[in-house]
Amino acid sequence: MKPPHAKNGLKELSYYTRGVRQGDKRILAKTITLIESARHEHQQLARAVVSALLPDTGNAVRLGISGVPGAGKSTFIETLGTRLVNQGHRVAVLAVDPSSRRSGGSVLADKTRMEKLSTAENAFIRPSPSGGTLGGVAGKTRETMLVCEAAGYDVMIVETVGVGQSEITVASMVDFFLLLMIAGAGDELQGIKKGVLEVADAIAINKADGDNVGRAVEARKQVEAALHYLRPASPAWTPRALTCSSLDPEDDGMKAIWSAVLEHREIFSHSGELYRKRRQQAVDWMWSLVEEGLKVQLYQYPEITSRLGEITRHVAAGEMAPTAAAEELLFSLDNKETV
Ligand code: GDP
Repeated sequence: MKPPHAKNGLKELSYYTRGVRQGDKRILAKTITLIESARHEHQQLARAVVSALLPDTGNAVRLGISGVPGAGKSTFIETLGTRLVNQGHRVAVLAVDPSSRRSGGSVLADKTRMEKLSTAENAFIRPSPSGGTLGGVAGKTRETMLVCEAAGYDVMIVETVGVGQSEITVASMVDFFLLLMIAGAGDELQGIKKGVLEVADAIAINKADGDNVGRAVEARKQVEAALHYLRPASPAWTPRALTCSSLDPEDDGMKAIWSAVLEHREIFSHSGELYRKRRQQAVDWMWSLVEEGLKVQLYQYPEITSRLGEITRHVAAGEMAPTAAAEELLFSLDNKETV
């Protein structure tokens, strides 16, 4: 008799785990498709694959990059990624974009946006999983990051355009978060969303070339001054403000950014903070999944959903205490689960 997953055109667990460990790009891509699938049996298998590969993960430098459309993210990643590949690194580029909007025919981390890097043997580029909530999309990217690490990629770049809370979410899955900016009308900090400056390990003013150098240097000073007033997330690292040009592979600014990433890694690895940070990220991720899962379960039962509206109204009208309401809802879920 065929095992149950074979009936669905799925292969055995070992097909995926072995293929990924061998760095087989085709099997890696298939594994990611499983992770992204909404089908229950795909999800089950994907979970088993990720769990089996867990001991092979964690060896990459995890770098998050954000910036408004046009800031130069894909150009930056193309140039940095190509440099790193030429130095012997294996680079994977992933994206978090809950809207998955197609702008000009491309989505984040689209292959067409990074032509040179996408053809490199030692690079792997995967666009953002489409649709869904930020939590859902980010969860898939997190798992994709793990399987890419198991496939031997030692630099993971996670890109986001900053829809909703996506910068904060990406910052919570990487070791180092870089915000790319461009010099604008003079008030550079206006464009930064609340909370984003706080999670950045470095901010780079891109397009510091040609006539733009002076403005970029001015913008960098402004950012540096703003950073000065923030309490760093870790006492071991003061966020850097830099300038760079993504058009030039030999640009000193680009080199300085990568040096900062490595220096940060050195400091954090040495002190154990990298380990602690990742452990905390994993635990936080688990809890966000539990919270999301509980909500999904609540909405599963029509008896509870019908009470939900009523309870919400009572709470809004001040007729019921939020604590009592939450307790009642959780209790009714508990009853369902034990039946
Ligand atoms: P993204 O939307 O953030 O991915 O931005 P892109 O990488 O697509 O870049 C937007 C535009 O800015 C493109 O026309 C790039 O060629 C240009 N660009 C990107 N980086 C630089 C840079 O460092 N200097 C200059 N002059 N142009 C750049």
